[in-house]
Amino acid sequence: MPLSEFDLIARFFADLTPGRADVLLGVGDDCALLEVPVGQQLAVTTDTLLEGVHFIAGTDPESLGHKALAVNLSDLAAMGAQPAWVTLALTLPQADEGWLAAFARGFGGLARHFGVALVGGDMTRGPLSITVQAQGLVEAGKALRRDAAQPGDLVYVSGTLGDAGLALLARQGFHVVPRFRDFLQERLDRPRPRLALGRSLAGVARAGIDISDGLTADLGHVLDASACGATLYIEQLPLSEALNQYVSEQADWSLPLSGGDDYELLVTLAPERQGMAESLAAECDCDFTWIGIIDSAPELRCVDANGNPVHHGNGWDHFATGAGAPGSNQ
Ligand code: ADP
Ligand code: MG
Repeated sequence: MPLSEFDLIARFFADLTPGRADVLLGVGDDCALLEVPVGQQLAVTTDTLLEGVHFIAGTDPESLGHKALAVNLSDLAAMGAQPAWVTLALTLPQADEGWLAAFARGFGGLARHFGVALVGGDMTRGPLSITVQAQGLVEAGKALRRDAAQPGDLVYVSGTLGDAGLALLARQGFHVVPRFRDFLQERLDRPRPRLALGRSLAGVARAGIDISDGLTADLGHVLDASACGATLYIEQLPLSEALNQYVSEQADWSLPLSGGDDYELLVTLAPERQGMAESLAAECDCDFTWIGIIDSAPELRCVDANGNPVHHGNGWDHFATGAGAPGSNQ
């Protein structure tokens, strides 16, 4: 007999993550009941992964489980929040137990790694779609907001840029040398949310955002919200070995500038906080690179080592003309 919706929840999700003392009531009632500590603010975010838009049919379900959670945790990291609880709304074409077991493995592994509790969700039948909502905690007043950048701030990014974009190109047939392939696929399929870095920069950096749509697009959101501009020094952009090779062979900076799906953090910070922020990043074992400066003049300028302007793309927009290629961004 096929498993019912409730059997599926019980088998795959009810006990996927260990309890937490602040979960008064988890999976099984109409709502979860959660305890927010005094002095903390609740940071809430949600993201959907849709088959045919964010990933192609047949994508490995374990990676999907990981990524659906990772992209939400990355939003919490970008606010400087500590992740606490998640809900999961799944729409599935059928109750495929093998698929669900692999999905739950990817999702549960990452949730347990960060001590996040799955406290509820929903299951419906239809075209494959995965929606996660994540909640985190941040000390009152310390969140890294998009509207907090100020002229003179230094712009920093974590990790390396453009890897997920190159992985996507490789998947579409672009030739990448074999020794880079596993690294690039991992960067696209299994992003590592920068939670430790985001946490330690809360109250230290000013503005923060995660790079999901591409560096220039996401920095653009900070500039719009903060009513300022910026100059980026493209020779400073942190590149993996694979991207270094791509950029020098193709003489093309578009992947690190506007490729999406990297889930690195971008922050702006007052110059006097530079030393402190760099040591905090080193304690998190996280590459953390200065790439530019916030200006009072509007607009974003990208310049090369000689100070010459470099054209930059606009990043990803689901509603822009031509958008809709599977496998791309949030
Ligand atoms: P309701 O009809 O009250 O919305 P549901 O029948 O949708 O409740 O779900 C029953 C319980 O299982 C609820 O507590 C809900 O939060 C939880 N739940 C449903 N789907 C999932 C899921 N995919 N993962 C975790 N919990 C889930
Ligand atoms: Mg429901």
